[in-house]
Amino acid sequence: MNEPVKQHLIDPEVCIRCYTCEQACPIGAIEHDGTNVVVKAEACNFCMSCIPVCPTGSIDEWRVVATPYTLAEQYGWSELPAQAALNGAGAATEAFDEGVAALLAQAHEGAGGKSKPPASASKPSINLYTLTKPVEATVQGNYRLTAESADSDIRHIILDFGGQPFPALEGQSLGIMPPGNGKDGKPHLPRLYSISSPRDGERPNFGNVSLTVKREPGGVCSNYVCDLNKGDKVQITGPFGATFLMPNDPKSRLLMICTGTGAAPFRAFTMRRQRTASPGGGDMALFFGARAPDSLPYFGPLNKVPSRILRKHMVFSRIPGAPKEHVQDRLLVEAEEIAEMLGDSSTHIYICGLRGMEEGVEKAFISISESVGLPWTTLRNALREEGRYHVETY
Ligand code: FAD
Repeated sequence: MNEPVKQHLIDPEVCIRCYTCEQACPIGAIEHDGTNVVVKAEACNFCMSCIPVCPTGSIDEWRVVATPYTLAEQYGWSELPAQAALNGAGAATEAFDEGVAALLAQAHEGAGGKSKPPASASKPSINLYTLTKPVEATVQGNYRLTAESADSDIRHIILDFGGQPFPALEGQSLGIMPPGNGKDGKPHLPRLYSISSPRDGERPNFGNVSLTVKREPGGVCSNYVCDLNKGDKVQITGPFGATFLMPNDPKSRLLMICTGTGAAPFRAFTMRRQRTASPGGGDMALFFGARAPDSLPYFGPLNKVPSRILRKHMVFSRIPGAPKEHVQDRLLVEAEEIAEMLGDSSTHIYICGLRGMEEGVEKAFISISESVGLPWTTLRNALREEGRYHVETY
């Protein structure tokens, strides 16, 4: 029998197929086919470059094995095998050697990381449509959400699946396959977009979804999407995402923090709550950062949501004559409200948007929770373990 070894694997149920890990791997140890993203056991040197960039924590999986799983085995998985009982696993079952353990600990720093779905979330459908078998959707609408004068072009895109099933829960994403090839001559990889409509669709029961897409200068897919016209056909993969989901428990309270297009899943959460509102339901608070009101997607419609359903904290960093304010600044201003929510076991926390926002938000949470005697790291780990802490940054 071979000496047992620790093998790096990816959880295909949680992976959202954004391929960021593959792009971050400096030695080409990660690859994909039309279905899964996998790690070459003989190539991976545990450098951990892929761990902090993964938006879901699906990359952070390890198994002690007598014989490493082959790529063919990993490509065939729809879920990760459990750790098998192994005689003589010895040292390999122990933690990594000191150097590798330190790298892993470093990679785990920050707000993201492995997470669990809320206990009352519905079971999501995942990866129904793949790179080799995408579904075709038709563009039903493409509306600019930001002012023509604003420095960002963010669009509300409606896609219709023409009766083909696309069962997506709030918080899930889909992949869009931009046409054409990259510089390497290979087809462009799909880019992920959060679904901004609730599970019954943008228009209830019409089999459509909406997205909130920002045009990136020189970006392949965002320009393709932002330039789509009504009637255009688009190739879609997904749905993806098994943890950044909404609790079904109507009494759950949601604390949502976002910047820019990070508002997409929170629009879906809010619409779901509005469509299923029941007396005595849990409240929601939204901290939303943008440069100015005209660059904050859904500013008008959000303002119309009654504050008994959603408390809105819109935060602007570029208002002429006003001091710059970011979401983390406002969290500190509203420390009492946040502390009260942090101390309530019905509260679920969601953070979504640009990766750069994580650090500031984390610092604000440390300050607020510790001011009321709750050590943040302990609290955050407990929240994660209970499926009540979710970060999706890109
Ligand atoms: P790419 O072509 O991949 O380029 C990447 C970056 O390089 C861009 O910022 C682009 O500006 C820059 N770049 C490329 N070429 C040039 C050039 N010639 N000159 C200067 N700069 C250049 N995005 C959304 O808008 N909405 C969402 O809801 C959303 N949800 C996401 C959810 C997840 C889980 C993840 C992982 C990502 C999400 N994204 C979302 C980001 C999205 O997937 C894409 O990364 C984004 O649209 C950029 O893709 P692109 O093909 O346009 O850019």
